[in-house]
Amino acid sequence: MDFDMLGLAPRLVTSLKEAGLTEPTPIQKRAIPAAMEGRDVMGLAQTGSGKTAAFGLPMIDSLLKNQTKAPNGSAVALVLAPTRELARQIVDALSVYTKDTGLRTGLVVGGAGITGQIRKMERGVHLLVATPGRLIDLIDRRAVSLSSTRFLVLDEADQMLDLGFIHALRRIASLLPEERQTMLFSATMPKQMAEIAAAFLTKPERVEVDPPGQAVDRIRQSVHFVAQSEKPALLSEMLSKHTDERALVFGRTKWGMEKLSKSLEKQGFSVASIHGAKSQGQRDRAIREFRAGTIKVLVATDVAARGLDIPDVKHVYNYELPNVADTYVHRIGRTARAGADGAAIALCAPDEMGDLRGIEKLMKQSVPVGSGRPWEVEAPAPKRGGKGRGKPGGARPGNRSRRPRRSKTAA
Ligand code: AMP
Repeated sequence: MDFDMLGLAPRLVTSLKEAGLTEPTPIQKRAIPAAMEGRDVMGLAQTGSGKTAAFGLPMIDSLLKNQTKAPNGSAVALVLAPTRELARQIVDALSVYTKDTGLRTGLVVGGAGITGQIRKMERGVHLLVATPGRLIDLIDRRAVSLSSTRFLVLDEADQMLDLGFIHALRRIASLLPEERQTMLFSATMPKQMAEIAAAFLTKPERVEVDPPGQAVDRIRQSVHFVAQSEKPALLSEMLSKHTDERALVFGRTKWGMEKLSKSLEKQGFSVASIHGAKSQGQRDRAIREFRAGTIKVLVATDVAARGLDIPDVKHVYNYELPNVADTYVHRIGRTARAGADGAAIALCAPDEMGDLRGIEKLMKQSVPVGSGRPWEVEAPAPKRGGKGRGKPGGARPGNRSRRPRRSKTAA
């Protein structure tokens, strides 16, 4: 099946061909026809599935076929994304699809000058991509009105909830006309999402690819049981085996990741980091260089890296396990894109056993052991810092401080 068989405007099909896109991905095959009929769409899909085009193409198609004008101080279509990086990536993709069509795109995100954004919005755009915080800022300054916005897309909606954007989303949605088309995309389906979906969508077409929590089969996963203090050395050892290939390293805190990045740099790795303590300019540069391949190792925290689409990342390291199991699935989804294969390597310290078990439970599969032996700690604690529930006859809490040795052989 080709894109023209979906009935998209011929000039749009031409732009797609020029961009090297000929055959729709599974999510596009299902979401595009439903959206072209004007239906609301609820898409369960991760970055890498082609979801940007899945929601972008039907909107562009409608704008072209109806020769819709961009309303002053407003946008015909609004795409909300959780992070600046993702918003930028979406607007870049939409700009490729709208090339030579006369359709205008706009980007409204924090960390960039507000005056330029206000000026751009005066004339109005067809497609506006925004992060919720900055958009509200512009709305409050009366620089943007949403009263003539007919399309609303919530991308990476689960992440927007995680980041506490729920009130912002409700407020923004309330400013749009009731008569509109809404599409919501999310990689996972936490409970709260069902409420959001019910509040924002009307009889949506549910489109699902790669059910959430199911790691892509092509990813070779492994876990190494290693004390926290031994992680830097083990990571260096593993990174030095593939210095020509891109690797993403995930950790929990910005300062921990900054320290790790500095230490890797001292050891001669070509490395950069993205996290909350870096300026927008620094983050953009790091991502650009990583994408271009001039740096090979990108050290990141989750928020900064969420939704990033970087081709050909061969190795994803969970230097520290996330305490939300879904996040693991997001992280490892950065590798094995577009049919390629990749490796996801987790380093698990004793106090991360509960996190590991939570991840395995979510994925309904165990992560193969790369080295060491599972730590003996009490029953899985659902939250870091939460009280462990010791089992009779099981290891006692005191065992946590015991420093188990890594066994040489893989279990
Ligand atoms: P997304 O999931 O929207 O972030 O897209 C992931 C990547 O897939 C992007 O680099 C797109 O350019 C690419 N892509 C999207 N649709 C297609 C398609 N139909 N064929 C090939 N690549 C695609």
